[in-house]
Amino acid sequence: MASTATCIFCKIIKGEIPCFKLFESDKTLAFLDIQPLSRGHALVIPKFHGAKLGDIPDDHLGEILPVVKKLVNATGAEDYNVLQNNGRIAHQVVDHVHFHMIPKPNEKEGLGVGWPQQ
Ligand code: IMP
Repeated sequence: MASTATCIFCKIIKGEIPCFKLFESDKTLAFLDIQPLSRGHALVIPKFHGAKLGDIPDDHLGEILPVVKKLVNATGAEDYNVLQNNGRIAHQVVDHVHFHMIPKPNEKEGLGVGWPQQ
């Protein structure tokens, strides 16, 4: 399991690895997924390093869903998935808690949801 020093998401938080930043506060960071499953696929992470949901203090978790909601509203997506994986069997690859927000294309806008910069 990655420590804070080697964790890829901690490096993004510290600015050592670039990201397309969507939101930042003292406890939370949101950025675009580097291998998006759809246009606008974003990750929302606590700045506190912990591999699984149970490792994260409540005050850090408390900001996450309101940020996910902000991102959903910003994309204009009507349909979307919010996912959070814990452990290898549950398909977690990066051992720093993250919530996926994955907008789904809709009939009206097709793949047009998401951020125009993408
Ligand atoms: P998991 O399977 O829930 O652990 O998903 C990890 C996600 O992190 C995957 O969707 C990756 O594409 C994404 N990811 C890995 N490295 C980076 C990065 O450097 N920037 C943005 N997203 C990343």
